[in-house]
Amino acid sequence: MAYTEKTRGIYSEILTGLKEAGLFKQERYIHSSQSADIEVEFPTGANLKKVINICANNYLGMSSHPEVVKAAHAGLDSHGYGMSSVRFICGTQDIHRTLENMVTRFLGTEDTILFPSCMDANAGVFEAILTKDDVMISDRLVHASIIDGIRLCSAMHDTFKHSDMEHLEEKLQLHNDKRLKMVITDGVFSMDGDTARLDKMAALCEKYDALLFMDDSHASGFIGKTGRGTHEKCGVMGQLDIITTTFGKGLGGASGGCVSGRRELVEMCRQKARPYLFSNTIAPPVVAGVIKVLEILSASTDRRDKLERNTEFWRKGLTDAGLIIKEGDTPIVPVMLFNAKLSQNVSHDLYEEGIYAIGFFFPVVPQGQARIRTQISAGHEIHHLEKALEAFKKVGKKYDILGKTKAEIIEMYGM
Ligand SMILES: *Cc1c(COP(=O)(O)O)cnc(C)c1O
Repeated sequence: MAYTEKTRGIYSEILTGLKEAGLFKQERYIHSSQSADIEVEFPTGANLKKVINICANNYLGMSSHPEVVKAAHAGLDSHGYGMSSVRFICGTQDIHRTLENMVTRFLGTEDTILFPSCMDANAGVFEAILTKDDVMISDRLVHASIIDGIRLCSAMHDTFKHSDMEHLEEKLQLHNDKRLKMVITDGVFSMDGDTARLDKMAALCEKYDALLFMDDSHASGFIGKTGRGTHEKCGVMGQLDIITTTFGKGLGGASGGCVSGRRELVEMCRQKARPYLFSNTIAPPVVAGVIKVLEILSASTDRRDKLERNTEFWRKGLTDAGLIIKEGDTPIVPVMLFNAKLSQNVSHDLYEEGIYAIGFFFPVVPQGQARIRTQISAGHEIHHLEKALEAFKKVGKKYDILGKTKAEIIEMYGM
């Protein structure tokens, strides 16, 4: 097959179009391990620069925690580098089952099955459990991986307006004749940092005899009094039927994910979920690392408590400085700038001040809601956050947005 100039031209044109529209994603190279202080290279020329990272999913600072690194080394030595097989042939070690049992205890569920990633868990779980006689009713802001999983499933799909419980109830009534109804939500929503109204959802699911599914990737390990997740925070431990989550964020930051929940539903995934059946599972050193993470988090709430204090300090600091943030109490703290170009400029200037945070704009967030999404970590010390606040104040002053209302900022810069 010839890769002709014509073929090349088709793709060059698309890629150029992305660049012209300002939608081209340019990656930066980190030369250090992932932590509060990183060394970054922009491939577009600039030299290596030491900056403070405030946009990682490293919520508990576990990505390069010495004990976790040590445990991963030990796992490499005892169980090798990789499995060269999927789980059901010869790809299951004792440590894979140990980790599954630990996750079950940690999340307060009945059983757990590991997946190569949470993306894979979400891609496989719906079609393993539901059929064309069933309906999936999802919040309109669920994560992209859930949307893909829904696409791969033959059950009917409907949505409800973000966190709108009246709308959800209407949809549950509308679909009451289905064999099974499944309500689908994120625990903490990644773009706004808001929390699903799980207590209300659990009550509605009870009333209408529906299953409740939550993806808790942005909460596992640190949301709730002992870090079990959004179900702990909302007082509905044990009431969710399926929880999916990732080991790539708070729970270590490496990779891997899982489906945790009702015994039969987990077993259905083991029998039928395609990303589980046809893809290698988590590599032994990573399994050993996640086991250590769960040991650390089960023994003490120090890390999630520190994260909570850091988050309060950060939210108060930004608000006192006169910046507009999305209300809430999670470590995802979006600083609202509304205008796309302004978000890019602020991100650029913050970088010059030694602070690494990325501007998000349409289509990642709705039109007119451009922002810098900051994410706080237990790996941050107060001096990191103070320096970042100073930078936000300096840059905010330059663009004259401190103490301004949303309307005033939009008047100056447009949507
Ligand atoms: C990050 C994320 C995922 C994907 O997790 P991976 O394990 O990296 O595939 C899935 N769902 C949500 C809500 C996420 O935030």
